[in-house]
Amino acid sequence: MKRIEDYVISIPDFPEPGVIFRDVTGILEDADGLQLAVDLMQERIKDVDFDIIVGPESRGFIFGVPLAYNLHKPFIPVRKAGKLPRETAAVEYALEYGTGTLEIHKESIKPGQRVVIIDDLIATGGTNKGIIKLVEELGGVVVKAVFLMELKGLKGREKLKGYDVESVIQYE
Ligand code: IMP
Repeated sequence: MKRIEDYVISIPDFPEPGVIFRDVTGILEDADGLQLAVDLMQERIKDVDFDIIVGPESRGFIFGVPLAYNLHKPFIPVRKAGKLPRETAAVEYALEYGTGTLEIHKESIKPGQRVVIIDDLIATGGTNKGIIKLVEELGGVVVKAVFLMELKGLKGREKLKGYDVESVIQYE
């Protein structure tokens, strides 16, 4: 039986020299890999008391939706600027070079709702810090963030200090 780590394809020097890209498509294109990834992430939230799952475009959707479906919870998408049709709240977040904007539908989270954030990978933590800001601006309470992969060297966890953060696979 393969471990979840065995399905991740590591690509050296992508997208630029010196970077090792951890490619999630190796997991997705194998039925066992996909099932294992969803199961292992689900394991980390099955006993958590929460109302909704929030996941960012685009790989947060891949894992957030099956978890929401399995646990019978709503899934709220966070998208890049200009994609969501109703009134949005927006936040600027740090990219490797410069900044980007993330948006969420304003009425999708009600004050006091307990939120689990799901994404494929945490690197610097910039994206998910932005998502937490959006959720909290709408009155949501972030009770946990679960990532399939964590690039520990980039210290994303430090940016999310004070929050319950878990990852399934860790890379140094
Ligand atoms: P952060 O904001 O620096 O934590 O970056 C998180 C986002 O960058 C994730 O949602 C990933 O989609 C993307 N990312 C950064 N490095 C990798 C990688 O090695 N493999 C896949 N995605 C990556």
